[in-house]
Amino acid sequence: SLQLKNLCMAYGDVPVLRNVSLEIAPGTTTCIIGPSGSGKSTLLRGINRLHEPSSGDVLLDGEDALRVRPDVLRRRIGMVFQHFNLFPDHTALENVALALWKVKGMSKSEATERARRRLTEVGLGERADHRPRDLSGGQQQRVAIARALAMEPEVMLFDEATSALDPELVKGVLTLMAGLCERGMTMAVVTHEMGFARRVADQVVFMDEGEVVEAGRPEDLFDNPRSARLQRFLSEVL
Ligand code: ATP
Ligand code: MG
Repeated sequence: SLQLKNLCMAYGDVPVLRNVSLEIAPGTTTCIIGPSGSGKSTLLRGINRLHEPSSGDVLLDGEDALRVRPDVLRRRIGMVFQHFNLFPDHTALENVALALWKVKGMSKSEATERARRRLTEVGLGERADHRPRDLSGGQQQRVAIARALAMEPEVMLFDEATSALDPELVKGVLTLMAGLCERGMTMAVVTHEMGFARRVADQVVFMDEGEVVEAGRPEDLFDNPRSARLQRFLSEVL
């Protein structure tokens, strides 16, 4: 499980997250929603230490994640970004295999074999030798997801993984993410896709101004928002 307790984060001396507490049970998916600037990306960046929290706790399976070496932590927590961050001069297969032999220390042949399997799982077995520029945005994002999955993380974080995609490419990536959820991956998903959140999430967390305003089952938040802030947000996005 992933547990956050009173997490506070700041940029310089500007506080951005205030006392965020939440728990993501093993094998469940939590969708994080909220207006622009509410701190959703900052929260994910705190979880895998791309930006260090100023106080509070992050517990990964009960273990203090703020004491794990960041590079070790990032092997256990995979992250997928809005802009796929693939290496442009490497093929899809190399993009997935590189971290396996560089970071995990696998032999090249073992890494290549595993990378090929992961690409096949995300439906890109036939595209393994294409470079990112010769793939659609949706395919590039699936390569990025395959790359994160190849590390066999305990938790996956998604930061608006479909926001940069053309509308017709969104569905394939969301279907892939829903499949991961069904197979029992533990996931935190920042998304603007309210339909996805309602359908797939075990828990929805609404953030505003650096705080968790409401958290609960999707049907409760979407059908019965209690706070005026969530009511206003939903009226703007739905
Ligand atoms: P969006 O939906 O637009 O992606 P968000 O909910 O992900 O927004 P964050 O990116 O976490 O919001 O930003 C939270 C606050 O922190 C905002 O006020 C933002 O301006 C500020 N912020 C984000 N990154 C930095 C940074 N590198 N330096 C200083 N301030 C930052
Ligand atoms: Mg963001």
